[in-house]
Amino acid sequence: MNSQDSIIYMDYHATTPIDPQVVDAMIPYLTTCFGNASSTAHLFGWKARDAVEKARHQVAELIGCSTDELIFTSGATESDNLAIKGVAYAYRHKGNHIITSTAEHHAVLDTCAVLENDGFKVTYLPVDKYGMVHPQQVRDCITEQTILISLIYANNEVGTINPLAEVGKIAGCQGVLFHSDAVQAVGKIDSDVNRLGLDLMSLTAHKMYGPKGIGALYIRARKPRIHLAPMIHGGGQENRIRPGTLNVPAIVGFGEACELSKTLMVDESERIAVLRDKLLHALFNRIDHINLNGHPLKRLVGNLNISFEFVESEALLASLDNIALSAGSACTSGAVQASHVLLAMRLKKELAHTAVRFGLGRFTTEVEVDQVIDAVVKEVHRLRQLSPLYEENISNTA
Ligand SMILES: *Cc1c(COP(=O)(O)O)cnc(C)c1O
Repeated sequence: MNSQDSIIYMDYHATTPIDPQVVDAMIPYLTTCFGNASSTAHLFGWKARDAVEKARHQVAELIGCSTDELIFTSGATESDNLAIKGVAYAYRHKGNHIITSTAEHHAVLDTCAVLENDGFKVTYLPVDKYGMVHPQQVRDCITEQTILISLIYANNEVGTINPLAEVGKIAGCQGVLFHSDAVQAVGKIDSDVNRLGLDLMSLTAHKMYGPKGIGALYIRARKPRIHLAPMIHGGGQENRIRPGTLNVPAIVGFGEACELSKTLMVDESERIAVLRDKLLHALFNRIDHINLNGHPLKRLVGNLNISFEFVESEALLASLDNIALSAGSACTSGAVQASHVLLAMRLKKELAHTAVRFGLGRFTTEVEVDQVIDAVVKEVHRLRQLSPLYEENISNTA
């Protein structure tokens, strides 16, 4: 077994390391500034409250909203649940129909499934072969009963970016609320809620170099003002929508991570795109029967989802024991079933079972990319030598 230090981390969609600058910002709130942000009678409380409000401002700046439109949650799973169930139960008198897609994260899909058991009707829009939803299809399935559209912004498995701004226009015209799970996009591409026409947006810190267990939900306060039914009940924190003592150090880290991403976004994207192109071109030049999954252009720069035909992804990952990679999505990689996103894209089974997700990010270096290229090329060739199917295919086509 390798020590963790000798392993190359290339799984930035599962989680990201915390940026050292974020850690520095958090430390005072883990030590001396330990106050409860709801304590209004003394300096400990005031310092904590000020730190929370500064962080709220930093998050708001990144997504172009006001601070009164953001509430902190435990992460995107909670934000997705709160947005979808919150709208469903607050707007039930208006209708019972929700539109989403087949390529969503489980935090959205499973929440919708629970609502179906409670009398809501959910349309799961098909995606195209790149994993993209088409705005016209969204328009076509809106009915008098539709209260919410929920679509992922950038796909966590294949990196495909959905045309949210176009869907936002449609939703706005039809008076249907529009939510997005924007976890993989925020801090990496422009995620301005007004440009995208969003009423609700889910974020999480740990996918953007912040700590785990802290996220946010953007809730539009004007034109229209959105009401949500809370999922948990208790104190008055976060406008009573999400009560509970605020996790001040994590919130401070989240705010810092947002400000950092906003500053670094343009240069970082360019740098990562260069590394991504190097990885992509080297693999395609040196390996045959290889397929890029997801949209060729409209994708996150840090994502490459690639199928190495004839090589089961689980076998490849096991042989690449000094590289941290993922087969399909991390949440389902324990199970040997093909990813629901790849199947929704109608990828052939052979390609779905051989897909590997490379996630590059802020701390990925060119040296690491070179090592990954050599290791993947070597192991794919080695495993194919052992594959009778591959040998057969090659002799047939020779
Ligand atoms: C990671 C992820 C989530 C879950 O976020 P948590 O903060 O870990 O709950 C939800 N949606 C997408 C697209 C993700 O990538």
